[in-house]
Amino acid sequence: DFSHGIALYLEDLSVWFDSFRALNNLSLYIEEGELRCIIGPNGAGKTTLMDVITGKTRPTEGSVFFGQTHNLANLSTEEIAEAGIGRKFQKPTVFENFTVMDNLLLAAPKDKRVVKSLFNKLNADTRDTLDATLQQIRLTDKINKPAGLLSHGQKQWLEIGMLLMQSPKLILLDEPVAGMTDAETEHTAELCLRLKKNHTLVVVEHDMTFIDAISEKVTVLAQGAILAEGTLAEVQANEAVIESYLGR
Ligand code: ADP
Repeated sequence: DFSHGIALYLEDLSVWFDSFRALNNLSLYIEEGELRCIIGPNGAGKTTLMDVITGKTRPTEGSVFFGQTHNLANLSTEEIAEAGIGRKFQKPTVFENFTVMDNLLLAAPKDKRVVKSLFNKLNADTRDTLDATLQQIRLTDKINKPAGLLSHGQKQWLEIGMLLMQSPKLILLDEPVAGMTDAETEHTAELCLRLKKNHTLVVVEHDMTFIDAISEKVTVLAQGAILAEGTLAEVQANEAVIESYLGR
């Protein structure tokens, strides 16, 4: 349930790397409960944008507001994560020798972190979060399987589950369907739509079939600025967008 306030507000962001401007006075509003797709040609600034939101890169100018209260510019990356922003990078980084369950438990916040041998002593909260997460990512029947034996898609879903163990409000996904089969891509779209019921999502992707399946609103970045915003059909028909993808 959302009040449909602003989840994330980026105000006049600029990022300079030496004399190169990766983000150019960019402002972006994302509402609570929204699933926003960010697309754009290589070098458009998509990764830099995600890096600024998570505090990995500091903006040269501008501010990042999360919910009502946090100006993220003043917080460390750990504090930003604790404030409720979770990010999944493109490459899965699950612990291959650990089971699905232990991967999830190790991803829980520090005070709740336990391994399987202590499972019987898990507090009810952690057990509930674990069960709910396994259901969300549809890996309940793989709970005791070593993560190394999962398919590429299952590893990606496990990593999304590891994010969910932190109970984030905002979930950032970097190219979540890269390298996936068509069936895995479809399952990931369904997972994103399930997550949207309780989370705000920002998804950077290139796969247009996937974007079409999940998104209401697409933001197109080019040269560090917003080139267009709208439905996928609207931005795909936009002349400036077509030109930016073809290259001037
Ligand atoms: P995208 O993710 O859309 O492909 P990026 O955000 O990765 O774009 O990059 C935007 C531009 O900023 C690129 O031209 C890239 O070379 C440049 N860039 C990114 N990170 C750095 C950095 N740490 N130092 C210098 N230039 C960078």
